[in-house]
Amino acid sequence: MRLGILGGGQLARMMALAAHPLGITCAVLDPSADPCARPVASVIRGEFDDLQSLYELARASDVITYEFENVPVESARWLAERVPVFPSPDALEVSQDRIVEKNFFAKLGIPTPAFADVLSRDDFDRALRGIGLPAVLKTRRFGYDGKGQCVIRTEDQIEPAWTQLGGRPLIVEGFVEFDRELSSIAVRSQKGECRYYPLVENEHRDGMLYRSLAPAANTGEELTERACEFAERVLNELNYVGVLAIEWFQDGPRLIANEMAPRVHNSGHWTLEGAACSQFENHVRAVCGLPLGSTSAIGHSAMFNLIGQRPGFDTILQIPGTHLHWYGKETKPRRKVGHVTVAATSADERDHLAAELLLRHDFAIR
Ligand code: AMP
Repeated sequence: MRLGILGGGQLARMMALAAHPLGITCAVLDPSADPCARPVASVIRGEFDDLQSLYELARASDVITYEFENVPVESARWLAERVPVFPSPDALEVSQDRIVEKNFFAKLGIPTPAFADVLSRDDFDRALRGIGLPAVLKTRRFGYDGKGQCVIRTEDQIEPAWTQLGGRPLIVEGFVEFDRELSSIAVRSQKGECRYYPLVENEHRDGMLYRSLAPAANTGEELTERACEFAERVLNELNYVGVLAIEWFQDGPRLIANEMAPRVHNSGHWTLEGAACSQFENHVRAVCGLPLGSTSAIGHSAMFNLIGQRPGFDTILQIPGTHLHWYGKETKPRRKVGHVTVAATSADERDHLAAELLLRHDFAIR
């Protein structure tokens, strides 16, 4: 079986590594000369809207998936006429535009922050009057890792936010005073079977994922069931195949959807060591039509991103239970270049080892 992947970054690399033992080979389409997945996949160099490159990928693949949601929908549709594409291009379309996505959640009865569409300065003022402060102004499209967004807490932050982002289609969201951030990592097979990893607790710093803890503490049966039920609505509505991530704000008993990603997700990296079958393997299994693996956690994990800096590998690996994933990328400011997972048998042991790890490396975003 040959799996084609749109995008050749670290997510594609970890998918290809998971595909290998299953006898599945991967080809990635990526515009860069030396994409992260190169050591483990064949590379077609080209833009995502270049027909010749798309044609080459289609010829090299029995099934196609993607590692990021900003692939042009038209390209995914063009490919889907020739080779099965999972998750379907409809899922891409929903997740590319924050307004479409929020309307989609609302249609399925999944709570979201208050939001309003902003195409003009008048819309912006009206939206702020309706929603009130604090609020968040975001670009509707192409925002990631906190890029393309401004938190507006006070009146005097309104003008600078508009100067920074105005002129593009935008969304204003009510700022959610959440207790914590959680994410659901779910997977649906071609036969429609759905499985869910335990809820993950995520800490963001400066708009980027800093740390994930899994399973999240004190979720309780009710919250867990609600998260699975909401995720199932999304999976079934889109006749989804593959791994889906949904990011939540938790406010007491309420789960408020922030956004979804139709792909393997950074907050699921802990599953490589911390779950019976990783999100990468389950995604590959799903899109290739194989039975799903168990999504049960093995013990307790903490995952820290390495952003913009290369730590001493031996310093990290000296700590028992740590696993280092270095993506082999050039280090640049605010670039995810690797991650470290601490896997332990209990939450206490995990926290103890994570504290020791943090004494040696601060995981600050550089
Ligand atoms: P996003 O790119 O939309 O996932 O936003 C990145 C991070 O900014 C989120 O994980 C939150 O920590 C924060 N954030 C985004 N939108 C909101 C909101 N409406 N209310 C509170 N915090 C938010």
